[in-house]
Amino acid sequence: MSYKVQGQRIVIIGGGEEALNKVRLVTKTTAQVVIIARHIEPLFNAFEVELNERAFGAADLDNAALVFVAEESDDAELAKAEARARGIPLNVVDVPAECDFYTPSIVDRAPLTIAISTEGDAPVLARLVRARIEAMLSPGIGKIARLAGQLRKTTESLIHDGAARRRFYEALVSSPQIEAAEQAGQGLAAATDLLHQHVTGESQGVVWLIGAGPGSEDLLTLRAQRLLQEADVIVHDQLVPTVVVDMGRRDAERILVGKAKGHHSFSQAQINTLIVRLAGQGKRVARLKSGDPMVFGRAGEEIAALRKAGLAYQVVPGISAALAAAADTATPVTLRKVSSGFIMATAHGADDSDLSHWAALAQSGLTLALYMGKSIASDVAARLIAHGARADLPVGIVVNAGRADKSTYSGTLSALAAGQVAFSEGPAIILVGEAVEAGDWANAAQLAGMSFKVA
Ligand code: SAH
Repeated sequence: MSYKVQGQRIVIIGGGEEALNKVRLVTKTTAQVVIIARHIEPLFNAFEVELNERAFGAADLDNAALVFVAEESDDAELAKAEARARGIPLNVVDVPAECDFYTPSIVDRAPLTIAISTEGDAPVLARLVRARIEAMLSPGIGKIARLAGQLRKTTESLIHDGAARRRFYEALVSSPQIEAAEQAGQGLAAATDLLHQHVTGESQGVVWLIGAGPGSEDLLTLRAQRLLQEADVIVHDQLVPTVVVDMGRRDAERILVGKAKGHHSFSQAQINTLIVRLAGQGKRVARLKSGDPMVFGRAGEEIAALRKAGLAYQVVPGISAALAAAADTATPVTLRKVSSGFIMATAHGADDSDLSHWAALAQSGLTLALYMGKSIASDVAARLIAHGARADLPVGIVVNAGRADKSTYSGTLSALAAGQVAFSEGPAIILVGEAVEAGDWANAAQLAGMSFKVA
């Protein structure tokens, strides 16, 4: 709730540190601030407040909008009783049970105000949360909000379509250029320019090929998050969990194109046609892919289709599953004197020449990260050995990498080759190579009992 206090008094009982904290807060309002206490610290002189160094009298609450009691005294008790009798909202510092209202911690970017309250239970937590939000919002964001307010009428008369209008406002509040112009005192002119650009180019569709990362909300880039918020349509794969898709605008259309049981799954050609059609209609399309879009994501085909149709696109990188697997297990995929490189390869569809090539690379110390290999893991391990990879080469497998429900397995190529492992549900990355041993696999299940030594 925001409370109007203009033209009224805010009365504070107390002349010490706690009263001063309230003074700092309420002098940001347009109310007349009145202090009453038998002793008032000199620090109060720095504020525009009325100081009354004397006893409290009932008439002090005439025309009072709010009362703060910030001392323990007989005067304080009188003031509380008087406020209650008159029905004036009362705040007693540090006594939640006696408060009619609390003053939240605020992040002040007027006219933008963010209030953080723990209802008196944990003011320290509120301050910590506040510090984080402070860091997130640029100091000038309030001025940009004012610009939006100033341009509201003009915008409504020039852009009639609600979605297009929203796009303009989103561009306005998130543009670094506007912020820079505002700092230079040119904000209104820059915002007006931006408005005219939006009026003329209203139906410019675009496709953002966005890497969603391995599947946790906090392993998305800030850019991915921002664009998801701006998209009109989110076209996503089955591998992208709902929590990540849910980071998009609530009213954005969502289209699942991945393979899933019980769902109609789209062919790649159908996906290409779909995104070209949506962007062609002027929509801003978030094509959300697991991991990084350029790694086994068929982004190449989608980009080719967009280029052919002359449509705008942008690629936003994401954390690929192999890197999430490396992070989960503290495995340095390159390691001085051990591994001079890192191969991302697909196990699915690999032929003998691929496998003999990778076996040689792994043999020479490079780390292999095999995608799409869970169901054929044993077979691939056996073939790598057959093509010259050492049987005791370390192997580490991470199922659901980068997610809370990850599980890890460790052993050697021969142990993996020896038999089918009962992996838990979910996508998996298979890491092979000397450097894998340097990781932290202490919690990993052992592959057929023949694990490499964990330091
Ligand atoms: N573009 C994605 C890869 C898509 S191909 C990326 O960069 O990560 C699908 C394969 O990725 C799966 O078969 C599996 O090998 C791997 N994968 C995707 N998400 C994963 C995860 N969270 N944990 C382990 N492997 C994953």
